Amino acid sequence: MHSFIPPQRTLLGPGPCNVSDRVLEAMARPTIGHLDSAFVGMMDEIRSLLRFAFKTENRMTLPISGPGSAGMECCFVNLVEPGDTAIVCKNGVFGGRMEENVTRCGGVAVTVDDDWGQPVDVVKAEAALKAHPGAKIVAFVQAETSTGARSDAAELCRLAQEHDCLTIVDTVTSLGGIEVSIDEWGADAVYSGSQKCLASPPGLSPVTFGPKALEVVANRRTKVQSWFLDLNLLMGYWQAEGGRSYHHTAPINLLYALHESLLMLKEEGLEAAWSRYESNYELLRAGLESMGLSVPVTRGDHLPQLVTVTVPDGVDEAEIRTRMLEDHGIEIGAGLGQLAGTVWRIGLMGQNSSPETVRLCLDALKASMRDAETA
Ligand SMILES: *Cc1c(COP(=O)(O)O)cnc(C)c1O
Repeated sequence: MHSFIPPQRTLLGPGPCNVSDRVLEAMARPTIGHLDSAFVGMMDEIRSLLRFAFKTENRMTLPISGPGSAGMECCFVNLVEPGDTAIVCKNGVFGGRMEENVTRCGGVAVTVDDDWGQPVDVVKAEAALKAHPGAKIVAFVQAETSTGARSDAAELCRLAQEHDCLTIVDTVTSLGGIEVSIDEWGADAVYSGSQKCLASPPGLSPVTFGPKALEVVANRRTKVQSWFLDLNLLMGYWQAEGGRSYHHTAPINLLYALHESLLMLKEEGLEAAWSRYESNYELLRAGLESMGLSVPVTRGDHLPQLVTVTVPDGVDEAEIRTRMLEDHGIEIGAGLGQLAGTVWRIGLMGQNSSPETVRLCLDALKASMRDAETA
């Protein structure tokens, strides 16, 4: 056996995306103790950079040690108690996982179902809130990575507040790529992931909790079923006054990486990053359409960081993905769930949202489709 040397890939799937040399170098710096004061100082900077990225003043903002799914569980296990009703908006795979989280916490999930590829229908969500006046939570995914559709987070949060509900918002694919404004929306519990538009390696899940959510956690009737994700215990490690206590060993080098990638986002500026994503989306979309391919999500409901493309009739979608990977070193995503076999998903995240990468992708896709036809 030898050391593992990964092949060179351009990662244009639904995440992870390519991690820049600058972030990889940060991650390769020496490991120090997770209670070392130098490390604790860096943790404080990460929390302040996350507040910047989420556009929030929430004190309880921190990266959970684990992938986006861990941040998702953290929000649900802390806020949902047995018997609680949660309205779960479902327009793709990740809404389905929210429903699963609610029921595993002993809650009752009332689903608002929308077609895949469509945003959450605000009118239907409002009807569900009216029909279930005792509901405690509204949960939805801002950027559905399984379909490429974006929902109106500001409006859904406003509706939830009007009905005295807390919101749980999935911003795993949105954070860093499109506008996320936690305080302006008044969102209560929000989670994200390190490997999508933040362009860090996978393994960390930024979360932020507002004051109303923390009050609900503090007044629970039952203990949080997960010891690892119990916010009351995590707070002791991340924000104890006068010294931190051991909770778990933080993934130290991954946190160096997240710190560096957040610094890069801050240097670029949020608005500048969002407009870069938008202009490269337009380039990709124009190129796909000029090849005769169709992009099913309507402009306005689209995600600039994740573009769903309809596989044309008679084309073997898996063969094209294999050719892209083996002949061109480019990974694109397959359809998930209902959309398996019928779409490709092209992600332009982190530094991959660039005109050069769009050109590389379009050229490789053209060549792969031509080669598949003549094979
Ligand atoms: C990727 C993703 C997740 C899950 O994140 P993991 O890091 O894979 O656990 C959750 N929600 C959305 C919208 C995602 O795109």
